[in-house]
Amino acid sequence: NRSFIYAITPTYTRPVQKAELTRLTNAFRQVPSFHWIVVEDSTTRTEMVARFLARSGVPYTHLNVFTPRRFKRTGMPRATEQRNAALAWLRQHRTRRDAGVVFFADDDNTYSLELFEEMRGTKAVSVWPVGFVGGRAYERPIVTGGKVVGWYTGWRPDRPFATDMAGFAVNLQVILGNPRAQFKRRGSQPGMQESDFLKQITNVSDLEPKASNCTRVLVWHTRTEKPHMGNEPKFRKDTVVIEV
Ligand code: UDP
Ligand code: MN
Repeated sequence: NRSFIYAITPTYTRPVQKAELTRLTNAFRQVPSFHWIVVEDSTTRTEMVARFLARSGVPYTHLNVFTPRRFKRTGMPRATEQRNAALAWLRQHRTRRDAGVVFFADDDNTYSLELFEEMRGTKAVSVWPVGFVGGRAYERPIVTGGKVVGWYTGWRPDRPFATDMAGFAVNLQVILGNPRAQFKRRGSQPGMQESDFLKQITNVSDLEPKASNCTRVLVWHTRTEKPHMGNEPKFRKDTVVIEV
């Protein structure tokens, strides 16, 4: 009865989407007992993503929910509805008898395989460093005597949980046992999504430090550069239609 890892990935249509999902797949495919919950920010499950997932070699669930237009403005938190849809799916399809760990895997990060073995033993909520966030080379929980006592970060150190979405995992039973815990639109400031969520389910003193007491970076917010496409033809198109 090995613990499953449920990775929740919100994703949206853009030129680099398939490249991003390919990088994730190349890692996730190698993780044992893994289940990928992909939630498209779209009015439909797109054919591109459906086809991609079917051939990915990763066990998955494909969902979609479209972010209301009024929430698609700069400075607003992203992917709130998509992450909540994945949590709702878990609460409907998993029970007290299922062992698992839930992790939020945005599509613009790079994941070390070691990260998944670190998080697999999460009893309630675990944390670790993340590269290239918080305006620094990395952000990390500061650990003393095996406990999280503070945060090393370049941005808003007053956050109760100064961690990125990729910096924590939650035991499935904590998700099921707190059926109302979710990501919030109302009253949530940009960059506070993680703290707003975590304070619904845990306390800083209960966090479980992973990655050698939070001294190793095993995930990076790499972000793929927007490709230059100024020379895309307006009229003289290629003779074949190619998915990129
Ligand atoms: N995302 C989404 N819809 C959007 C923008 C982003 O579903 O309109 C997804 C995106 O694919 C990623 C996550 O939400 O998995 C976080 O978005 P992003 O990395 O762009 O946010 P940032 O790093 O700027 O906070
Ligand atoms: Mn990002």
